[in-house]
Amino acid sequence: MLQTEAPTRETYEPLSHSLEVSIFYFLSAIAILVFFYGLYRRLDSYVDGPEDEVARLDNFRHRVRSATRIVFSNENQFDRDIYAGLMHSFIVWGFLSLLIATTILAIDLYIYGRFTGSSFWRGDFYVAYQFAVDALGLLFVVGVGMAIYRRYWIRKDRLFSPHTSLEDHLFIWTLFFLGVGGFLLEGIRILVNGYPPFEVVSFVGWATALGMEAVFSIAGVSTTGSTASSVHWGLWWSHSLLSLFFIAWIPFAKPFHMLSSFANVVVRDEKAGKRLPGVPADLEATNAESMDDFTWKERLDQDACTKCGRCSAVCPAKASGRPLDPQSVILDLKSYRETNDAGDAEIPIVADGGTSVIDAETMESCLSCMACMDACPVEIEHLKSFTRMNRQLVDQGDVDGNVQDVFQNVMQHGNTFGEPAGDRGTWADELDVDLTDAREEDVEYLWYVGDFPSYDERNKRVARSLAKLLDKADVSFGILFEDEQYDGNDIRRLGEEYLYLELAGHHVEQFEDCTFEKLICTDPHAYNTFKNEYPEVDFDEFADDPMMPFEYDEPWNDDGEIDVLHWTQAVEELVLETRLGLTGNELDYTVTYHDPCHLGRYNDEYEAPRRLIRATGCDLQEMPRNRADSFCCGGGGGGLWMEFDEEPKPSEQRLREALEETPAGNAVEKFVVACPMCMTMYEDGRKTGGYESDIEIVDVAELLVEAVTK
Ligand code: SF4
Ligand code: SF4
Repeated sequence: MLQTEAPTRETYEPLSHSLEVSIFYFLSAIAILVFFYGLYRRLDSYVDGPEDEVARLDNFRHRVRSATRIVFSNENQFDRDIYAGLMHSFIVWGFLSLLIATTILAIDLYIYGRFTGSSFWRGDFYVAYQFAVDALGLLFVVGVGMAIYRRYWIRKDRLFSPHTSLEDHLFIWTLFFLGVGGFLLEGIRILVNGYPPFEVVSFVGWATALGMEAVFSIAGVSTTGSTASSVHWGLWWSHSLLSLFFIAWIPFAKPFHMLSSFANVVVRDEKAGKRLPGVPADLEATNAESMDDFTWKERLDQDACTKCGRCSAVCPAKASGRPLDPQSVILDLKSYRETNDAGDAEIPIVADGGTSVIDAETMESCLSCMACMDACPVEIEHLKSFTRMNRQLVDQGDVDGNVQDVFQNVMQHGNTFGEPAGDRGTWADELDVDLTDAREEDVEYLWYVGDFPSYDERNKRVARSLAKLLDKADVSFGILFEDEQYDGNDIRRLGEEYLYLELAGHHVEQFEDCTFEKLICTDPHAYNTFKNEYPEVDFDEFADDPMMPFEYDEPWNDDGEIDVLHWTQAVEELVLETRLGLTGNELDYTVTYHDPCHLGRYNDEYEAPRRLIRATGCDLQEMPRNRADSFCCGGGGGGLWMEFDEEPKPSEQRLREALEETPAGNAVEKFVVACPMCMTMYEDGRKTGGYESDIEIVDVAELLVEAVTK
């Protein structure tokens, strides 16, 4: 230690001569060069990728500010997992504090010291610095200890996957030995310097020194002799070499997520998943023929993955035994990209038959529920890459037979059922309400009924209930009859982009020909695509295409002038205006509510259906997985049209949850839905799961009709 009056110390204290310091500088330079070389290689691979279709760098200052808040607060890590939130916060805050502390020291030594010949790292500043470094260093070690406990003692399932490898173990243990090594080094320094009184602020180092002294004493080693000095020297070098190795290693393995994850949060698309990117009209353009098709953002997604397994833990396809693991898809693409860059032979990205990077069945398994994206702490946009691969499957003709039939039905009849377009309004035949033809008369609400409420017997009852409600509230509403076609949301997610464009062009022409104030949808899937995707379709690019059955060539509703609503939002307004005459005491059922993915996670509408249920007087009991944590019914992303061996089906899992895990348990009488696809899936799950005598499936509209007719 420097014998000065003010508290401070030597930086390179145990090094005996300047050659050793020079060696340290030389090794540091190599570590930094390797770091920058690795970083260059990573950045180069992004620059190589095609432009992303979405603006990612606009409003950059805001993006950085909000990413900084997300990353520093660790709010995504706290979501659904308080232990992980605390653990990650301790590691991040501790690591960054140590990094800042080292930077301050370097500034003092190499800049301030060089120019002024003195040091600000002394006196009160030194004392405060030492205390802060010890406190935050301890936080860091505790955080890493929590991670080790969770990984090796608890052996948390989601942390282990086929992609778990040496880098995961090396990363966690390197952090651990960096933290613990720092305290050992501090302890031996305090010990060999005879406990300088001001060093008591380095409380962890001080305690470590006392522990070391006890060990030395048991071993009969003097704390002032050459053995203690050698231990000091050995600890200094081992800590320094480990630090330099870590710096050089960052861009080449898991530690890179410290940079890539932050960057991924900065460039995230707030509407990712709920709106899919378009395709160029250029027929030469490919979707996922090779890694070259993946944009820089999709490559960054791959590199940002921390292997936390949260996406896979919430995936309903995985939970029901379908061959899909979202984490593995992202990491399989990453591994392939890396081996490909290293010169390995190319194989198809996605295909049927097990010879590709991703198997067609894996992609078909996805329900587009967005649970993976909601759970991902680093904002990876799984559905963007998945849609790219689904589009490739459509290009190649590798499409599930049932889905192929659905595409044919839509092409020939304009609906997924393959029923005559002229039968579209027949659901209303048994109704005492006269339906207005919105093509002939001005209406307040243009009601897009949708395929299931138009053609499926169970859902026709829901459509009739909604018609009665709108009639009772005395609003003017109308439908498009045979000019209504399938909305296209789910076939778009299955990769059928051109058919989707035809449907979108058809509908915007119909909408433009009608006069209405609000567009309301029975189906959250239709609501999603009308609200988030139709306004972004570049109709002009395709209007001249002779294959496209529309001439519309302007953006539709890009200014949001037309209010697009799910029916629960529209009827909530009517209830608030007391136009349904509800007192709130009409019904006394105990019910639970299932948030449909396309209404909840996709569009943040959680409260309107709940308010309507409560407005009937029902006792609403929440399932543990509610709102953004809701679990898909199994029908999205074409799941409703495909046949998979599922054990158990997502709908059966959900009905069991309703009867066993709400506070009311099996007293729950009705399982309330707000989506026609959910209705279909749960009616099926009720039969196959053996729940027919335990619970009834009802739509919010049916509850309301029962209440208003009491
Ligand atoms: S969207 Fe849903 S089904 Fe598809 S991978 Fe993500 S969590 Fe799984
Ligand atoms: S994709 Fe996201 S949620 Fe899934 S393992 Fe990677 S970081 Fe975790």
